[in-house]
Amino acid sequence: MLPAACRAALFLSLCLAGPAAAQDCAGKLGTSRVMQVDPSGLQVGTKHFPQTLDLADREVVLTFDDGPLPGTTSSVLKTLARECVRATFFVIGRNAAAHPDLLRREIAEGHTVGHHSMTHPMTLADIPYDKAVADIEKGINADDKAAYGATGTRPRVPFFRFPGFGASPELLDYLKGRGIGVFGADLWASDWNPMTPEEQLSLVMARLDHAGRGIILFHDTRAQTAKMLPAFLSALKERGYRVVHIVPAPPKTATAP
Ligand SMILES: [Zn+2]
Repeated sequence: MLPAACRAALFLSLCLAGPAAAQDCAGKLGTSRVMQVDPSGLQVGTKHFPQTLDLADREVVLTFDDGPLPGTTSSVLKTLARECVRATFFVIGRNAAAHPDLLRREIAEGHTVGHHSMTHPMTLADIPYDKAVADIEKGINADDKAAYGATGTRPRVPFFRFPGFGASPELLDYLKGRGIGVFGADLWASDWNPMTPEEQLSLVMARLDHAGRGIILFHDTRAQTAKMLPAFLSALKERGYRVVHIVPAPPKTATAP
């Protein structure tokens, strides 16, 4: 059970970063800092947009898409907890509805849970606009209902990633109008392609050493990724990379005229 102050905290992750957690995390890779990200008009990730998050050299943001899924997601969570690393999960609404316990575990363990549509159409840009918007909204509602037991007019975490990075200008405008930030990626592990965990580790580390920093995309639904993750976190530590945890900045309150 978490202390009452933690349960009430807007950002659980800040609570978990307290002195007790820091002590338990001595000698681990850990999470070096929490970055508050303003979702309004946000479009980041150089694979898809001209700009990305303001990361220093050797800083990485770890993101996992398409879960939650029993088995692989549990394994990913265990590995992250062992190294005191916090990540961001972009979840599919139908998976969140099917496995709310896993979704709540992601949040309880201090991770950020963003949205990745209801049914993962490939892609939202290739289906009629109204259907695409409905799939986005159904996903957000399913995620928030599973995670928090209720939905509001605004998602708790206004972060979205397009399935297959299939964004259209109209859908980007829609999300902007809803105050929802859009995340692409700076590099990925290509873990949608079957390969051994060793091959995948070597591929992603080569890409990361080349880029030097960035938002990294994995899939917590892939067994090869779950198996590779312990070695990946060790490699980050050995090579001096630092993990940055992203959380949404609090909504702006109206200012006096
Ligand atoms: Zn996906």
